[in-house]
Amino acid sequence: MTGQKMTEFSFRDDSYLKSLQAHVTEVNERGGVILDRTIFYATSGGQPGDCGLLRRENGEQIEIATALHPDGDKGLIVHVPNDEQPRPEIGEMLVCEIDWDRRHKLMRMHTALHILSVLFPYPVTGGSIGAEKGRLDFNMPEVPENIPDIQRQMNETVQAAHMVSDEWITEEELQAKPEMVKTMKVKPPMGQGRVRLVRIGQGDKTVDLQPCGGTHVANTSEIGPLRIGKIEKKGRENRRVNLHFAESFEI
Ligand SMILES: [Zn+2]
Repeated sequence: MTGQKMTEFSFRDDSYLKSLQAHVTEVNERGGVILDRTIFYATSGGQPGDCGLLRRENGEQIEIATALHPDGDKGLIVHVPNDEQPRPEIGEMLVCEIDWDRRHKLMRMHTALHILSVLFPYPVTGGSIGAEKGRLDFNMPEVPENIPDIQRQMNETVQAAHMVSDEWITEEELQAKPEMVKTMKVKPPMGQGRVRLVRIGQGDKTVDLQPCGGTHVANTSEIGPLRIGKIEKKGRENRRVNLHFAESFEI
């Protein structure tokens, strides 16, 4: 039972929020907690849900293993507790605290994958974001020969300290600006009224612009050094490119 309730996605306005006060709107039969608003990102688009805790006013903590969209309902987020956690009451005020170290790594890797998608100009067929590594699958029959150059370009883009920003656009605005769609690698989903676009760089210096609902760092310099890992063959035309954080830019 999820009713018509919606969760306010506070992480979407500010991905740097580490704690937030919220109220419990529902506790499902499995102990999953739904709040009126949250900073827990829910698993989607290849980015895993956040873990962390919900702090009760009486000092008790509810450890949260992950956050999910229940039954594919993209308007709601369920906080899934670890085993044997206290159950909060409907209407109760809690403080959400996410595992910030992990989330920041996910934000860095997520933003890095946007850059990777620009440097490999092939259709993306899948992807996954982890705190230690990430990957994108491309429809790419041949592996490019200049991987060291691509890696250097990636690190130069990171060090160029491009701003990362988001903008909401209505479908009408998008249709009125065909040049915007041309700069986008991924076509936005239509039929939902408005689309959130994530831009790396600004104006003429835009590096990437694509529809995305995930969490990103505010500046590419936060990503740090990157290393392209194994490129695996996944089918006749599909290649998986693995990406890792590196120790230094001198590789
Ligand atoms: Zn993104």
